[in-house]
Amino acid sequence: MSGTDFYYRPQIELAERLARLAPGDAPKRVFFTNSGTESVEAALKLSRRHTRRPRVIAFHGAFHGRTYGAMSLSGSKPTQRRGFSPLVPEIHHARYGDLESVRSLFKTTCPPDELAAIFVEPIQGEGGYIVPPADFLPGLRAICDEVGALLVLDEVQSGIGRTGRMFASEHWGVAGDIVCLAKGIANGLPLGAIVARADVMDWPPGSHASTFGGNPVACASALATLRLVEGKYMANARRRGDQLMTGLRELADRHPAIKEVRGIGLMVGMEVRAGGAPDPDLRDRIIELAFRRGLLLLPCGPSTVRFCPPLCVRARQVEVGLTLLDDALSAAEEERVEPSEAREAAKD
Ligand code: PLP
Repeated sequence: MSGTDFYYRPQIELAERLARLAPGDAPKRVFFTNSGTESVEAALKLSRRHTRRPRVIAFHGAFHGRTYGAMSLSGSKPTQRRGFSPLVPEIHHARYGDLESVRSLFKTTCPPDELAAIFVEPIQGEGGYIVPPADFLPGLRAICDEVGALLVLDEVQSGIGRTGRMFASEHWGVAGDIVCLAKGIANGLPLGAIVARADVMDWPPGSHASTFGGNPVACASALATLRLVEGKYMANARRRGDQLMTGLRELADRHPAIKEVRGIGLMVGMEVRAGGAPDPDLRDRIIELAFRRGLLLLPCGPSTVRFCPPLCVRARQVEVGLTLLDDALSAAEEERVEPSEAREAAKD
């Protein structure tokens, strides 16, 4: 049976829990989905319906999902869009981390009184694990309040304890009008949710629904997950994140391939360069060589390696991961040595 039609206890308990956890004093309402992209889709529909305005701002480098609304909001890679047009109209993109670029849209293509919402990842994930400047999220909050638009925080990747706080936006003391969740919320079972201010989620029954969104098995898993995240894994994310960042910065002192190490908690990015310029090939090679040594990593952005381990990762596992990475970096750097230099080195 569907939670759209009948209530069941785990769904109600989870909704109450998420409503309590989400930042902001206003009462909240929750809508359940099965995935991140569906959460973003629900937030887009709700933003337009509630404000009765058509336009939305999102950011270059953003990734919000693969269904039409979420894909149209994304600004990460051409391959995610190629061949799928026409996309959802009236979506404008600004530069991530740059408030002035948002304001300049108001003077050019986006009348502010037509703006329904700004969609933003508190830390940009797919776009390169980018931590924005300190004034960015508070500035977006202020702009939304000024023009009567909603601030929608996509915490699909950054939420549920990953950064050492339940929601990444807490690091900046910012509350969204709608928060999108999925990924870690049910520890691998398909579940997503939006948590919105109660006065914002004012659509009547039937406006939006999902048969399996918030099914009892996924909700039970989410309740157990949240207990563990709050109980110990959020603190673990802080401790292991510090360990990982310190270790990566030590590696950066010895490996010229590492340009920058950045992140919060267990959402950590390592930017790769060669001769001062971003180098996607070198980044991909490091990931391949790490994989052969038993360390699984993912890329993000043009030339960043992402570290996104389980929140239960142990100190020893971080240590081993750093050792394997050290070795992979050395191997990748050696491959890059010019053949003549390699011959000279062989003579020595
Ligand atoms: N939003 C963000 C920030 C994401 O990182 C992702 C997935 O990577 C999504 C949305 C889409 O989530 P899903 O793959 O569950 O649809």
